[in-house]
Amino acid sequence: MGWLTRLRDALQPPVRIADADWDALLASSALFARLRDADRDALRASTALFLARKSFSAAGGHVLEPAHALAIAALASLSVLHLGRDALAGWHEVIVYPGEFRVRREHHDEHSGVVTEGDDVLIGEAWERGPLILSWADVATDLAHPFDGFNVVAHEMAHKLDLLDGAMNGVPALPRSIARREWIDAMQAGFDRLERAVARGRDTFIDPYATESAEEYFAVVSELHFSDPAGLARAEPAVAALLARYYDGG
Ligand SMILES: [Zn+2]
Repeated sequence: MGWLTRLRDALQPPVRIADADWDALLASSALFARLRDADRDALRASTALFLARKSFSAAGGHVLEPAHALAIAALASLSVLHLGRDALAGWHEVIVYPGEFRVRREHHDEHSGVVTEGDDVLIGEAWERGPLILSWADVATDLAHPFDGFNVVAHEMAHKLDLLDGAMNGVPALPRSIARREWIDAMQAGFDRLERAVARGRDTFIDPYATESAEEYFAVVSELHFSDPAGLARAEPAVAALLARYYDGG
């Protein structure tokens, strides 16, 4: 990140979040209830900075209420609570659709040389240096059912963290306490186990979508870290322990 961006961000005073708005958010989801008091205070400060540094816009006819922006900022800040302020660097925009949204995609198959184009229906998307794009309906479902194994903001924030070091490859910028080799070995072993189970037609705890790529595996297990950590610890203890060290600094 350039010094100019750092300076601009540093000059941005945090938004003041009214007590009533903050209390309403905390009451809206059990996700926030299990935070320790110190973490809840840190989350409020980090959410206030997020609101100051990111611009929110609506798309697809969505009416973006201040409470939506506050909830999204808090969910995104939860992902980076123990990762330091630079974890939110490199992008500035959040775009919110009312529900699922369509994007036009071109896919080039390197083996056959065939280019196919089609519509994908998405609930979230993260562009390198570009916006974080979300379906409000899915964010609202995550707030209402925070421990069902899905969390679209945690998923897209994992992609944003992955992109921080420049390459989307399932390996985010790591704290000193986690060696790059250790991360890759644990994630690759989990990925391989999931791929074998899916190939054998087994029902898997981890969504088979995670076998798309190393970056999707990181994003899907990140969702589970926030929305069903006990389930993840049973299914993939080493991956769960690594994510706890990464996200919680433990
Ligand atoms: Zn993804």
